[in-house]
Amino acid sequence: MPDSWIYNPSVELLSRDELDKIKLQRLKEVIHRVYNNNQFYRKKMKEKGLKPEDIKTLEDIKKLPYTTKEELRENMPFGFLVTEYQNVVEVHATSGTTGEPIFMYYTIKDIENWSEIMARSLAAAGLTKRDVLQITPSFSLFTGGFGFFYGARRIGATIIPTGPGFSKRQIYTMIKLGTTMLAGIANYAIRLAEVAFEMGVDPARDTRVRKGVFGAEMWSDSLRKKIEEIWNMETFDIYGMAELYGPGAAIDCQYHNGLHVWEDHFIVEVVDPKTGEPVDVEEKGELVFTTLTKDAMPLIRYRTRDISRILDENKCQCGRTHTKIDRIQGRTDDMFIINGVNIYPQAIENVLMQSKLVGNEYQIVISKRPSGDILTIVVETSKKLSEAEKMMLSKDLEKQLREVILVTPRVEVVDPGTLPRFDGKAKRVVIKSEE
Ligand SMILES: [Zn+2]
Repeated sequence: MPDSWIYNPSVELLSRDELDKIKLQRLKEVIHRVYNNNQFYRKKMKEKGLKPEDIKTLEDIKKLPYTTKEELRENMPFGFLVTEYQNVVEVHATSGTTGEPIFMYYTIKDIENWSEIMARSLAAAGLTKRDVLQITPSFSLFTGGFGFFYGARRIGATIIPTGPGFSKRQIYTMIKLGTTMLAGIANYAIRLAEVAFEMGVDPARDTRVRKGVFGAEMWSDSLRKKIEEIWNMETFDIYGMAELYGPGAAIDCQYHNGLHVWEDHFIVEVVDPKTGEPVDVEEKGELVFTTLTKDAMPLIRYRTRDISRILDENKCQCGRTHTKIDRIQGRTDDMFIINGVNIYPQAIENVLMQSKLVGNEYQIVISKRPSGDILTIVVETSKKLSEAEKMMLSKDLEKQLREVILVTPRVEVVDPGTLPRFDGKAKRVVIKSEE
């Protein structure tokens, strides 16, 4: 078995024509299903004067109305269910940090489909039955843990379902059981490495972990490089969300130039986040997903709030034909505005992580003031620096950041270990209001 392999060649290598045929067939089916079984969709389609029969080509998807996260929330708990509740075998929820949880429902068929796309994704990352996979996302209402579990179970790898936290024990377990692949959030790989070094363990030298699959929050190319160096591992960027089963909607293959979207399960579009107008291939915008196979809770033209673009490429070097999206550039709701300029946190992270003197932790503080907002970036150093060195680093970063984000931030340099640590998603942006 090669390092990376194709789990389901009969689907992953389909010609464009064959793939489009399946997509159109499934799109028509799902539109009929939601129109006939769901009040919300029927009402929205009627408002646009649409009947299921109006969807004749893949292009016709553009006629359909969008679905938003607010609409999901407003119609909780059962407004989007397209089957009887007794057919639901599992429930998850979105990991939204604001508001009430939004529940997602899964029938047996949904779990099968999710397992399939996760198996394809993990195989693309090189997981085989000889591997030992340590799963650090939680096994809970959130989809992370279960998604990896279902995919790895299909492949027959050895699964270590640690879930998050207890970092020392994670390191102990990984050494004793010979973990070869780590699954989780990119920031947690950094946190684990920190704990390992505290224990006198060098992740690159003393563990067998050589591959990592990370997702759930955006991570810059610089952070990626850092993780790969510390662990001596190859990393894979997995994309997904509870609305799209969970993780596994897309992943990069061993060539690492874009994430393959499993097109027999999803139609992906990119639209202007402000106007909702579709944008051209290669152009950046908000990802919009239509689920083609979701059984309990299909979503039509769902606005993900994630910023990326569709790459203009027919066939990847790996042989897969499924279209690729770029790595996530940020979220429409992560974006913040300082004095009229749009800023994505990822752009800041990218600059910070390029400096060898910058540690792994940083915080973006936005102070709202009537006289104009102030952007402060608090940066931990990788080792203890003198006051003079800190001053130089601060000036240097301020200059570099200004060139990228077009706003002059204040950079505050602090000693290693000053900022809070997170076992889950990191809280990087802090907004303060001043009178
Ligand atoms: Zn590929």
